[in-house]
Amino acid sequence: MKLSKVFRAALDLVVPPLCWVCREPARGRLCGHCRQQLPWIEPLVPRRRGSVLQQQWSPLEFEGPARALVHALKFHSATALAALMAEHLVDALPPRAFPDDATLVPVPANARRLRQRGFDHADLLASALARRVRLPLDRPLRRETSVFNGQRGLGRSDRLSGRGLQVTAAGAVPSRAILVDDVCTTGATLERCAKALLGAGAFRVGAVTYCTVP
Ligand SMILES: [Zn+2]
Repeated sequence: MKLSKVFRAALDLVVPPLCWVCREPARGRLCGHCRQQLPWIEPLVPRRRGSVLQQQWSPLEFEGPARALVHALKFHSATALAALMAEHLVDALPPRAFPDDATLVPVPANARRLRQRGFDHADLLASALARRVRLPLDRPLRRETSVFNGQRGLGRSDRLSGRGLQVTAAGAVPSRAILVDDVCTTGATLERCAKALLGAGAFRVGAVTYCTVP
């Protein structure tokens, strides 16, 4: 057993870990009750009109404990949750969601947010997922800072159209890429990223997100 694991086990005896969703004592990062409340859905996301994505997978609805886990990862620096979310993805998605010749590509964070948070949640999730499914990880995408500083302040129609979001691919891109992000809201971000990869020479681009807004 690694020293860190011994330390963790000893710490758990003194301070029992709390569920990240309901803050009750729990074994692991999610209590049994919250685990049962996870809003699983049919994971193959219906194709949006005009989509350039080959396939999109998302096993959970952006609701309840799934939403709480995403917020904890994003806003409370609960970086250890990335491993739990990767575990959920691997458990819920079929093997064909992760073809042998694919490379995982995290959806790039907004530069300003990255500076504020100090970590990139999509990158953490993609890294944890890459370790689990034993696929390579590449980071060819860059998100340009625009006058809008991201999409959060924009209305739904603006976000749907991808307004305020510029993504470019730098250097060589994998021929088969799977974009990884925590949430798919409108799909505009994934489409922009996929177009950047296809424009830079990728042959096929799919996507995996932890949850989605149906
Ligand atoms: Zn709980």
